[in-house]
Amino acid sequence: TGSGVKYSRVMLKISGEALMGDQGFGLHPPTVARIAQEIKSVHDLGVEICLVIGGGNIFRGLAGSAQGMERTTADYMGMLATVMNALAMQSALEGIGVFTRVISAIPMDQVCEPYIRRRAVRHLEKKRVCIFAAGTGNPYFTTDTAATLRANEMACQAIFKGTKVDGVYDKDPKKFPDAKRYETVSYDECLAKHLGVMDASAIALARDNSLPIIVFSLDEPGGFRGILAGQGTYTRVS
Ligand code: UDP
Repeated sequence: TGSGVKYSRVMLKISGEALMGDQGFGLHPPTVARIAQEIKSVHDLGVEICLVIGGGNIFRGLAGSAQGMERTTADYMGMLATVMNALAMQSALEGIGVFTRVISAIPMDQVCEPYIRRRAVRHLEKKRVCIFAAGTGNPYFTTDTAATLRANEMACQAIFKGTKVDGVYDKDPKKFPDAKRYETVSYDECLAKHLGVMDASAIALARDNSLPIIVFSLDEPGGFRGILAGQGTYTRVS
């Protein structure tokens, strides 16, 4: 492409909370629109994009079960929350001319497509952004694991995990000014030191398939595009 981008197909994982802006809950449309622009700027480079959005801005299974709800029921509610976020992002992306498909691990044909691997691959080849919703479709998993699973299935070259900080630190940089950012770190060190990159099952699944995880800040304007071109600060887990 001449843009210096060495990736042709990537997975972007963002938490549900990334869509809530400064609110404590739900969706903040200007924030959704801003992230949609970040995605479009990468799509414009010709990069094929898979997207997984969490549901924590609406509902988390663990929180529900802590309040006495049956765990699996609470997890299904969490998965449904991710579908709402996926639809919000679909609307924002299509509003700026990026074609998308929402693809759910739990079939709900009136709302979005069911997950059929070969069909999803075809969408990517046609440069449609594939938004994978409803996690893995199973309780007791997270959307980090779903992102890793789909990234493997779609043969993505890396998972880009957009967070509030520009990489993986040895301790919380928002609490400790002397926190040190890793340039690179191994999967095993993330697991052994509980570095909080993603949950353990997601990291193990990435490790077992040699799928690099790039942790970067989604708050940095132009950050996603820059990181793809090898600029800016980030941590590579591999
Ligand atoms: N969830 C699930 N199985 C999956 C993915 C998600 O049960 O494969 C549920 C789980 O209850 C989780 C909620 O969906 O708490 C929202 O996902 P997650 O916590 O990963 O969202 P994020 O923290 O990324 O916003």
